[in-house]
Amino acid sequence: MIYSARITARRTEAAGIYTFTMRFVDNDVRRAYSFKAGQFNMLYAFGVGEVPISIVSDPADSENLEHTIRIAGRVTGVMAGWKVGDVVGVRGPYGNGWPVEEARGRDVVIVTGGLGCAPVVGLINYIFRRRDQYDELHILHGVKTPNDLLYRERFDEWRRAPRTKVYLTTDKPDKSWHYQIGVVTELFDELTAPPSSIVMMCGPEVMMRFAAQTLRHKGIGDEAIYLSMERRMECAVGLCGHCQYREHFVCKDGPVFSYRTVKQLFGISNI
Ligand SMILES: Cc1cc2nc3c(=O)[nH]c(=O)nc-3n(C[C@H](O)[C@H](O)[C@H](O)COP(=O)(O)OP(=O)(O)OC[C@H]3O[C@@H](n4cnc5c(N)ncnc54)[C@H](O)[C@@H]3O)c2cc1C
Repeated sequence: MIYSARITARRTEAAGIYTFTMRFVDNDVRRAYSFKAGQFNMLYAFGVGEVPISIVSDPADSENLEHTIRIAGRVTGVMAGWKVGDVVGVRGPYGNGWPVEEARGRDVVIVTGGLGCAPVVGLINYIFRRRDQYDELHILHGVKTPNDLLYRERFDEWRRAPRTKVYLTTDKPDKSWHYQIGVVTELFDELTAPPSSIVMMCGPEVMMRFAAQTLRHKGIGDEAIYLSMERRMECAVGLCGHCQYREHFVCKDGPVFSYRTVKQLFGISNI
């Protein structure tokens, strides 16, 4: 079922990347809707098509939904023109979300690259709202250029929080950059997370593979590493088969999988 939602705010994060806040038009739908950190919605540009987009806002406020959209092609190209007051279509939430229960009482390591940080913003908000239930939080984020750094103020805010370490890095620094330089896996040299930690990753698959390999040297096993996978999908409910891998559907059984499952499912060798 597609519900109408009105855009209430629009923010430019970087060139071609926008965050939209939206509220369901129908009061009953708005009150009944809830989601988990790491889930996504199918956003519909009427008359054009719909695409899966992660929910980046706090699950504790399910009435004001935020989505960060990178303009990639046909449908997101139309979304670039969405303005405050426009009514758009929303169907969801879909997917399994992050393993927040399993993470309870442990150090949580969050590794992201590029726009990959969008699906973990809701997760970080979730942990901060229940800070006493989790041990140290380690946030590692890599971008190609300083201009690709989204949510700059949020990273600064998180860095100031107790029991939280934030590491940022870029491949191509400019004069404004005063964090680390290099690829995200180089940040692992400074990572103090114990082997009992749980890791949640999102970003380019090659980055996630190398990160998993490096984490193994730190004693963190494949079963404690979770990845959010991105695949083309249409129905989002496990019917159309677009995102099917053997018996698994990325839309329904994912998008979050343990690295152990990902290796079997996607045929990734034991790197
Ligand atoms: C679970 C999930 C969560 C997502 N969350 C976000 C998000 O928070 N923000 C965001 O900006 N995007 C997100 N995406 C990606 C987004 O859905 C695609 O960028 C969008 O579907 C592109 O549609 P389009 O019609 O604009 O582009 P198209 O015209 O269909 O494609 C443009 C180009 O992008 C490629 N492409 C399209 N979709 C994908 C994909 N899923 N994986 C790899 N390449 C693709 C195409 O091959 C083509 O080269 C998510 C995808 C999934 C599966």
